Amino acid sequence: MTEALTRSTAAVVAVDLGGSSMKGVVVDGSGRELATRTVPTPDREVVSALTQLVRDLSTIAAGAGVTPVAAGVVTPGSVDEARGVVRYASNLGWRDLPLRDHLGDALDLPVAVGHDVRTAGVAEQLLGAGRGSDSFVLVPIGTGVAAAIVSDGRLVAGFTGAAGEFGHIPLVPGGELCPCGQRGCLEAYASAGALARRYAAAEGHARTAEEVVASLGSDATADRLWDEAVTVLAQGLNVLTILLDPELIVIGGGLSRAGAVLLEPLTARMESGLAWRGRPRVVVSELGESAGRLGAAVLAFRAAGRDDLLASWRVDPSQDQHP
Ligand SMILES: [Zn+2]
Repeated sequence: MTEALTRSTAAVVAVDLGGSSMKGVVVDGSGRELATRTVPTPDREVVSALTQLVRDLSTIAAGAGVTPVAAGVVTPGSVDEARGVVRYASNLGWRDLPLRDHLGDALDLPVAVGHDVRTAGVAEQLLGAGRGSDSFVLVPIGTGVAAAIVSDGRLVAGFTGAAGEFGHIPLVPGGELCPCGQRGCLEAYASAGALARRYAAAEGHARTAEEVVASLGSDATADRLWDEAVTVLAQGLNVLTILLDPELIVIGGGLSRAGAVLLEPLTARMESGLAWRGRPRVVVSELGESAGRLGAAVLAFRAAGRDDLLASWRVDPSQDQHP
């Protein structure tokens, strides 16, 4: 019986499903990651591969002496969390896919489906840099840029489940073409993907965003592109600040590893762009890349009716893959 399972014997299987990989984890009732498995996202039959990954992790969980009580899956795109439907996910080729029902039927477990970035916001609020805050924005900056908005204690999903597409706020009139079809989007300048793409366009040879950051101060092109990225990002965060009045902005994703190299010029530029009000506190994510799958585990325990187990969760810093 599920009710008899305790913190140390209950577990969930959580999966962060991305366009290139599926990162699965078994999380027990005290929030510990017992096992992880990452597999490539196949070009087709994604739901079958996802089902198999959850089954494999359930077998591993059973071997570790814990019983899976639910599964949680987070995906990119436009997600209707209440119905468990992925309305649209371009890099998975999904449209109006009832993922929760498909997985629930195949696995015979309660299943929760969430949006990857919003669910990372759930984890940051419960366990990470947003702890204790009812009003913050998590902004993961990686290949693209998005936002999880927690406003007055509620996670904002929007009418169609598409709230928080922060990277596609058009900020530069007539600016660079974004893959989304608009011009001048924030993420066409201020993302890891944009830094790499713009460096290659300017210099004719490839650099990763990490290499661009590492060469700041000794490479004029890197300096210029970084300056433009920080300027556009500061402008975008000021739009968020004026619109939402958050207590806190949490920067996550790969680019947050730049640390002070990013935060110092970013906060200075936010301040110079705001005239009549101060800026909110800006910090780096505590959960890093694990926020999505930890959030998926939280949704799964809630789907199993085991919110009681979440109250005592603490994140073990050794689980944090964020340097
Ligand atoms: Zn765009």
